[in-house]
Order: sequence, then C-alpha cells, then structure tokens
Amino acid sequence: KIDTMLYLDGVSVAFDGFKAINKLSIIVHPAEMLAIIGPNGAGKTTMMDIITGKTRPDDGEILFNGRTDLTQLDEAAIANLGIGRKFQKPTVFESQTIWDNLEMALRKPRGIFATLFYASDQADVDHITEILETVRLLSRKDDLAADLSHGQKQWLEIGMLLAQDPKLLLVDEPVAGMTDAETVETAKLLKQIAKTRSVVVVEHDMSFVRDLDSRVTCLAEGSVLAEGSLEQVSANPHVIERYLGR
Ligand code: ADP
Repeated sequence: KIDTMLYLDGVSVAFDGFKAINKLSIIVHPAEMLAIIGPNGAGKTTMMDIITGKTRPDDGEILFNGRTDLTQLDEAAIANLGIGRKFQKPTVFESQTIWDNLEMALRKPRGIFATLFYASDQADVDHITEILETVRLLSRKDDLAADLSHGQKQWLEIGMLLAQDPKLLLVDEPVAGMTDAETVETAKLLKQIAKTRSVVVVEHDMSFVRDLDSRVTCLAEGSVLAEGSLEQVSANPHVIERYLGR
C-alpha cells in the first residue's frame, strides 16, 4: 500500500439495496495512467464519486498516497489533498481569455482575496506558460475561451486542474465530442501528464484507450471483470461477452 497513489480494497456502495459498487479493488501507482472501461451501469461514475468524496462508500478501504484514509473526508478536503476531477462537460470561463482562466485556477487555492489582489510573479507566469504548452494552447493564450473548439475547451479545463498541481487526476470521457485529430492529441497530452502524476481515465472510445497505451481495468456490475494491457483485457472472454461483443 505504501507505494500506491490510490488504493481501493473491498469498496462497496448500494443505492436502495442495489450494489452499484461491489467489493471493488483497484490500485494506481505514482506517475501511472490507468484506463477504466466497461459497459453502461458498470459503476465507473460511482467509483469516481466515491474517490472524490461525492458518494460515501458503505464498506472498504480507500487510501490516497499510501496513507490518507479518504472514506472519512468530504469533497473539499479530498480536493485539497491533490485529487483533481475533470467531468465530461467542460466548465471554463467563456468570457475570459485562456490565460486569465489559468491565472484564476492558479489562485483559487489561495482564496478569494488572492484572486482579487494578488499580482502574478514570474514563477506564476512560467508555471502558466508550461501548462499552456502541455495542453497545446500557448499560441491561443490571449483568445477568449469562448472561441476555442469543444476539444480545446477540454484541454483548457485539464490545464486549469494542472494549475492546482494535483497528484492524482481523474478524467471522465475526455474525448467525447472531439475530432479525430483532437482525440489523438489528447492521448499524447495525457501520457505527458502521467509522466509525473497519476491519471485515471474513464473512456468508451477503444482506439483512444489503445493510444493511451496504459494499464486497463474493465468494470462490470461494480467489480473488476479483467485487468492488464488492452490486448489482455480485450481478449478476455468475459469482457467480450459483457462489453466488447455487444
Ligand atoms: P457507469 O458510469 O459505469 O455507466 P454508474 O456508476 O453511473 O455506471 O452507475 C452504476 C449503477 O448504479 C447503475 O445501475 C446506476 O443506475 C446506479 N446508480 C448510480 N448512481 C445512483 C444513485 N444516486 N441512485 C441510485 N442508483 C444509482
């Protein structure tokens, strides 16, 4: 456990007696990417909700960074530990420039007064520049967020999460609605991020999951159905029967 970034063991949660998550055990190592696949209703969203404290598990152990018990913390406390979550729909400030979106994201942890009165120093400028390079938006820094494509807004939001320096980034279906070129680029940028941070990606797009080139876990009925490389998981007869073959 001590060398894991995220450790779930025997985690369960029921809604009105229905077990959405059933004795789920998952491990993510530091600077590792894990792709989560599985049919609708498998429990992927509920798993993310449990990790981020939106839903409290009925049972099981969840450790962050090998030591912090997440089951007793609320959403804000869990976010403050360094767990960032990217929802499917991008939520950027459309009427602000891309640069200003990132500047606000950078100051957010410093509080509302910092947002109003804090002047950016050179370290902030360097940090924002580096993030914009990672999310492929440096050349667009002075444009309004409203002028970005859907895919670029997703990248901007990933950048806004990076500004808060998460150790673990949870990403929900990032390439839904993206062009093919944006999808390929998204795999590259997430792989780049996963060189220094742990990244968990929930995704349906199998060619994108292939591009991620990461360990894959297939969930079904709230438990792990198969895990390994995408080749191993997609050759698993249970996965073919319950997910890929349908
Ligand atoms: P996935 O994201 O893999 O499609 P979900 O985590 O959304 O799956 O859902 C898992 C199961 O739990 C589904 O059967 C869903 O209907 C059920 N479920 C999820 N959230 C709730 C809730 N708040 N109340 C009742 N049932 C829920």
